[in-house]
Amino acid sequence: AKWVYRFGADQTEGRAEMKNLLGGKGANLAEMASLGLPVPPGFTITTEVCTYFYANARKYPAELEAEVKAGVAHIEKAVGMRFGDSENPLLVSVRSGARVSMPGMMDTVLNLGLNDDTTEGLAKKSGDRRFAYDSYRRFIQMYGNVVLGVEHHNFEEVLELHKQDRGVDLDTDLSAEDWLKIIGEYKQRIEEEIGKPFPQDPHQQLWGAIGAVFGSWDIPRAKTYRKLNNIPEEWGTAVNVQAMVFGNMGDDCATGVAFTRNPSTGTKEFYGEYLVNAQGEDVVAGIRTPQHLTLEGKKANKSTLPAMEEVMPEVFKQLDQVRSQLEKHYRDMQDIEFTVQQGKLYMLQTRNGKRTAQAALKIAVDLCNEGLIDRKTAVARVDPASLDQLLHPRLDPKAKKEVIARGLPASPGAAFGKIAFTADAAEDRAAKGEQVILVRVETSPEDIHGMHAAAGILTTRGGMTSHAAVVARGMGRPCVSGAGDLRVDEVQKTMTVRGHTIGDGDTITIDGGTGEVMLGEVPTIEPELSGDFSMLMSWADSFRKLKVRTNAETPLDARTARQFGAEGIGLCRTEHMFFDTSRIVAMRETIMAEDVEGRKKALAKLLPMQRQDFVELFQIMRGLPVTIRLLDPPLHEFLPHSKEELAEVAKASNHSVEWVTHRATLLKESNPMLGHRGCRLGITYPEIYEMQARAIFEAAAEVKKKQGETAEAEIMIPLVGIPKELSLMRAVIDKVAREVIKETGVELPYSVGTMIELPRACLLADQIAKDAAFFSFGTNDLTQTTYGLSRDDAGRFLQAYERQGIIKQDPFISLDQEGVGELVKIAAERGRKTRANLKLGICGEHGGDPASIHFCSEVGLDYVSCSPYRVPIAKLAAAQAAL
Ligand code: ADP
Ligand code: MG
Ligand code: MG
Repeated sequence: AKWVYRFGADQTEGRAEMKNLLGGKGANLAEMASLGLPVPPGFTITTEVCTYFYANARKYPAELEAEVKAGVAHIEKAVGMRFGDSENPLLVSVRSGARVSMPGMMDTVLNLGLNDDTTEGLAKKSGDRRFAYDSYRRFIQMYGNVVLGVEHHNFEEVLELHKQDRGVDLDTDLSAEDWLKIIGEYKQRIEEEIGKPFPQDPHQQLWGAIGAVFGSWDIPRAKTYRKLNNIPEEWGTAVNVQAMVFGNMGDDCATGVAFTRNPSTGTKEFYGEYLVNAQGEDVVAGIRTPQHLTLEGKKANKSTLPAMEEVMPEVFKQLDQVRSQLEKHYRDMQDIEFTVQQGKLYMLQTRNGKRTAQAALKIAVDLCNEGLIDRKTAVARVDPASLDQLLHPRLDPKAKKEVIARGLPASPGAAFGKIAFTADAAEDRAAKGEQVILVRVETSPEDIHGMHAAAGILTTRGGMTSHAAVVARGMGRPCVSGAGDLRVDEVQKTMTVRGHTIGDGDTITIDGGTGEVMLGEVPTIEPELSGDFSMLMSWADSFRKLKVRTNAETPLDARTARQFGAEGIGLCRTEHMFFDTSRIVAMRETIMAEDVEGRKKALAKLLPMQRQDFVELFQIMRGLPVTIRLLDPPLHEFLPHSKEELAEVAKASNHSVEWVTHRATLLKESNPMLGHRGCRLGITYPEIYEMQARAIFEAAAEVKKKQGETAEAEIMIPLVGIPKELSLMRAVIDKVAREVIKETGVELPYSVGTMIELPRACLLADQIAKDAAFFSFGTNDLTQTTYGLSRDDAGRFLQAYERQGIIKQDPFISLDQEGVGELVKIAAERGRKTRANLKLGICGEHGGDPASIHFCSEVGLDYVSCSPYRVPIAKLAAAQAAL
């Protein structure tokens, strides 16, 4: 095997594509050298050495020593200096570099090769003793810290004491003699700390640094980082050894970092900072105030320090050329590091720059318009999930904020408002025009109206998949969940945290993107959806095969989704329409009635309201399909609890409170999610589904008369597991359809299908498809029933499962492709065998998850349906799946 790859002006063995072997830094150094850019010569020890090192009890391959020696000779020849030479000493940097950049690992050791001897040589040769000693003390400090493990404070103490002694504030005020003294004390400290003198032999130093880089792959910090970012343990890191160039040799020297475009806005401007007479990471370390590269940057940041463009116009021009050369070559925005030694530019690093979602979007569109990438590449460049950040209001970055608590970033966007402690209060006050934040310990289905009315939701209990989090994401409301430091007293209507007591009506701000809770009103800024956003979406649309619909039951959500380009409604959950305060009583009357007569009486009250719901949805959706799911939740969920609620129902239905209370007890279920729900309701109480079907058809007829066209109603029967359930319910609906068509004289396009959410339905899909024009995979319930896992309770133990590697991720967030996905495949295949044109879709949280969307595309579904704010995400993910 070959363990070492060289780079430099005369000989370069690596390429950008060799990141797996050379790490990102090494591969790009080689690439830049091949492009003819001024890269100090060096060599890269491959990641395979790291793998070998850990497979062989921390030993190196036998050939490595000779290859490193030859690598050093290569550098010596290229620069005309000798490693360890006391007159003309070569110094090197030793730099770690994994495939992806990894904070937490060993950083870089600079100025390696200096010892008492070579430092004198460097001083003589450069004619600058201060520079030589400054370099040596930097080296001792860095090597002492990262290789020998001597803590920083040791060095800081020495330096501080010395400055006090000399009565100076700045490092730059120290003289060569001062540094010489400090060097002596540093070495002494190290010897005290580790019981051995500071190594004087450059080769020993070199191997020490190489070992430290490989060793740092295994330290806890690095391991944690890999776990959090899904970086495989096997990858390993490379080590780069490179000739030093000096940005700290005087005022014609500098060091800096830059982005070829603005990484926060994406604007095409050279964006970076530099420091004169400095080395390494001084720029980011915050010891001195960095200066801007360009005059524009200086102006924009109101800096009084001169820009590089002014101070070193020639070098700046060269750097600016490198900037465009690199962008053209890599066809992407680059993040670069450079050093200027006595007026000569050196490139030390380039990589694709990290950027905000906004910048990613703009850069992809701009690069395409500049002809550097094609539309497919542009579409592939933007992370669909990151669009979420762009679709919601954000905190004004310039605003001051006082963070009083932190929770989970459960649903993105920022909002401020006055606190309401109950859903009813939130609704009432919002109706009066107040902006409210709903604060609860946790939310339940009965809070939906209040969540909808609120500008944001804050809970003190519950995780990322708690009711509050899921519903808020669905509605596009900002939500912070599980802010455990807050104490909410729902009776006293107060919230307390570390000395603050905040009451009903006080203003707070929440940021659902970060999980922060702030006191008072922090100004927000609105998202911008025109321009680049709509351009990229139109490109995505041109590649996409999957249709994207939305889950919506309110006109507001339907309209929002249309604005985002939804192509119909994939799931309208009719039960959400009944939780409204004005309807819940009639709903309760319905379910508690003893006989058909009683139910019909109550249902007659609901019919006109339900019809009006559909009229609005059909109008908004015009000719697009609207899938309406008939009543699904356990009756249990509608039962009245409090005295007032029981009394209300009694009054409305002309019964005694005792009777109502008794009925409520009878209707209680011990396992409601597997109980009296879904089509089981339609089987036992067909009049409920009759009423709903009538409302749908009458609404469709009304809209068709008014608008000349109407949405295509797809009526969906939930929780079918037995083919006969569907055929019976279909007969009920067809009968109502015939009646309404006859009554109104309007021809209505409609179809009947089912939600596939039970394993049995997947297995019997061929039979079920006989009566279904479409299947919509309800993967929330399908996941629950396949795993036998309750979504509402899984939060308590799923984390332990993830920690122990039993599951890779929460199956309620990203579809379990092996298990649940297999059932989806079986159902799709068997269903289409019976009915070739069976329409297939997916609704529920997974419909908006990019990985799940890829799967849906592979399986050949026709559409995905997701919450309104996820529509653009789903469209982009669907396009990427089709590339
Ligand atoms: P990181 O991965 O933390 O950015 P680097 O290996 O890029 O670490 O090193 C950090 C900084 O050290 C570089 O930005 C550069 O300023 C300086 N540096 C590294 N190698 C050299 C070198 N050969 N000559 C001069 N400076 C160097
Ligand atoms: Mg660093
Ligand atoms: Mg770097």
